[in-house]
Amino acid sequence: MKKSLSLLLIGLLILGLVAVSGCTDTAGTTGTDDETVSEMPVYVVGTEPYFPPFEYADENNSNEIIGFDIDLINAIAADQGFEVTWKDLEFDALIPALQSGQIDIIASGMTITEAREESVDFSAPYINAGLALAVAANNNDIQSVDDIQGKVAVVQQGSTGAAKADELKAQGLISEVIYLAHVSDVIMSLQNGRGDLTINDLPVTNAFISQNPGVIKIVDDQIQSESYGFAVRTGNTELLNMLNEGLANVQADGTYDQITDKYF
Ligand code: GLN
Repeated sequence: MKKSLSLLLIGLLILGLVAVSGCTDTAGTTGTDDETVSEMPVYVVGTEPYFPPFEYADENNSNEIIGFDIDLINAIAADQGFEVTWKDLEFDALIPALQSGQIDIIASGMTITEAREESVDFSAPYINAGLALAVAANNNDIQSVDDIQGKVAVVQQGSTGAAKADELKAQGLISEVIYLAHVSDVIMSLQNGRGDLTINDLPVTNAFISQNPGVIKIVDDQIQSESYGFAVRTGNTELLNMLNEGLANVQADGTYDQITDKYF
């Protein structure tokens, strides 16, 4: 008697399990079937989202990252048939994250440089963005790059602006270089007098000035000419080709111009 009861219970349990898994299967148009519908590869894109207008938090929904790079990668992904997920990282953590496989693509206003080309592969350049020299709006001391002798530079850690400041320090011009994580911190430090000048990407400096007029001003808008590229792991030619092909396509079909009009 006891034995048949437990057999019955086991039987009911099995029936229940079958029913439950049956349910998931029917409801599973989103589960199992989805995998057949969406066989698109998913790539993880790393970005430092404090760099308007290229990547920044939407002011209406701070959980969402928007910007020129975001729209451009999304357009390329749609053109090439892949999907992306985004990962926020500090700027100087992006290349190590790419190398270790944590991310597959860097889209973060990253300048193509020879030094970086030793660690990553870059796409074709997708925009020109040189370096500008900026100071606090009320600074009358520094009118151009000729007035930086003995001054303190504040720059974004790991950026080409930081590399330029290091170079000017090595030449005995700038006396000290302070490195901070985000451009917003850099600008605040000019505002509160911790530093005298910054060297940062012109479009980003311009975007800050138009959002917050009267805080800083540009005294030299082209101390170095640069171009941005998307980066992939060295040798990942399959993904690099997709990025380059997609970029060429969205440039040819007008999407690139629409994105430019939206953010500039
Ligand atoms: N373009 C600069 C660089 O590549 C800064 C980029 C950034 O801070 N997102 O170093």
